[in-house]
Amino acid sequence: MERKNAWAKYDEAGMEKIEAFAKKYCAFLDHGKTERECVAQAVKAAQDAGFMDLRQATKEGRQLVAGDRVYVNWMNKSFMSFIVGREPLETGMNILGAHIDSPRLDVKQNPLYEEADLAYLDTHYYGGIKKYQWVAQPLALHGVLCKKDGSTVTVAIGEDAADPVFYITDLLPHLAQEQMTKTAAKVIEGEELNLVIGGMPVKDGDEDKASVTAGVLAILKDRYGVEEEDFLSAELEIVPAGKARDVGFDRSMIISYGHDDRVCAYPSMQAVLDFEGVPAYTVCAILTDKEEIGSVGATGMNSRFFENVVAEFADLAGAKGDLALRRVLANSRMLSSDVSAGFDPNFAGAFEKKNAAFLGRGVCFNKYTGSRGKSGSNDANAEYVAQLRRILDDADVAFQTCELGRVDLGGGGTIAYMCAKYGMNVIDAGVAVLSMHAPYEVISKVDLYEAYRCYCTFLKDAKPL
Ligand code: MN
Ligand code: MN
Repeated sequence: MERKNAWAKYDEAGMEKIEAFAKKYCAFLDHGKTERECVAQAVKAAQDAGFMDLRQATKEGRQLVAGDRVYVNWMNKSFMSFIVGREPLETGMNILGAHIDSPRLDVKQNPLYEEADLAYLDTHYYGGIKKYQWVAQPLALHGVLCKKDGSTVTVAIGEDAADPVFYITDLLPHLAQEQMTKTAAKVIEGEELNLVIGGMPVKDGDEDKASVTAGVLAILKDRYGVEEEDFLSAELEIVPAGKARDVGFDRSMIISYGHDDRVCAYPSMQAVLDFEGVPAYTVCAILTDKEEIGSVGATGMNSRFFENVVAEFADLAGAKGDLALRRVLANSRMLSSDVSAGFDPNFAGAFEKKNAAFLGRGVCFNKYTGSRGKSGSNDANAEYVAQLRRILDDADVAFQTCELGRVDLGGGGTIAYMCAKYGMNVIDAGVAVLSMHAPYEVISKVDLYEAYRCYCTFLKDAKPL
């Protein structure tokens, strides 16, 4: 059974809505190249929409009632928002969960060195990348340096047209005879991902010899008030420089860094912000960190931060105590909102066409992901999938079902199984991406819009099974 292309559903007015949503999404991408930048935007949007800080509500000893809107900023790297529903919280929530970290290069703790009159920062890649894709292009530096005095310096260098950018070299083809015989995994190796950050030797005080690092450090001190030692307590991320742009004569697609998973995170966040009135069941959006390295750490989905935040929220919203919390979680419905591999005719052999996601055919559901016989996957319940089919068909949302590539070719995982451990119904629902995990990925605007419509419908209409 083949699913229809979703563009056909839309008249001119519909096309305008798709374009308007795509524009807002591109602005989110351009100002959200790191998890921290995404959280900063989410917090601002929540506050502007009248959401209250959950910690503040706790401090004031408030009781939350139907219609109340709250958010949580977790360590500046994860974010959650809620709207209290009419039904008792123990009947479960309708939850959207996406991640806001993306594959990139992180600056090492002791990164600065000089070689051949050039200054460099040493990097350690984050997430699953093809290392050879990250050389010979303009790169930007985003992140924070936390100083001993408790202050934090935030940087984003390389995005403004007036900013400098940074660069990782590749070998010229003239001298690449040996390099070109290597496998793709070895063409550029991890320790060769060294970022060029300067090339002008400067005299350091009384010393005889000039050095490039001395010049760079003087600029860092002068402009940002940081010392070399401050790299020890920094989180600096190297990402492609530049903005999201339209792709194709028909402008039907968007090229950008970080569609995985901001193309699901943005509509998830927005679906809660845009929710009108009081939901039947409490709605919740999670924007989480560290998915690309296994959802580890205190801001990843494997952390108990999610459960702890829900416990705090439930306590104020009338579901007090451990058993009540367990019921809230077990009775919830969730869309683990993450991207899927778009069918690519250039690499058709990597897919099984009947069960592949196609660009333009709407939001895609992965009942299971995993590898080697569904290992590590969540495998959603058929009863739950049936409910989703019904509410999406009723709302005329275009959706497709898919697997992540052909059987036994590879695989992947999402946050779905981590939420399933509470006993709730979860399924992966997201947007098809071309060239996933490349510095620049491509998505279709209509899929973005159908994902948003899917998330809005889900928050409104999903029910306990
Ligand atoms: Mn993802
Ligand atoms: Mn990913």
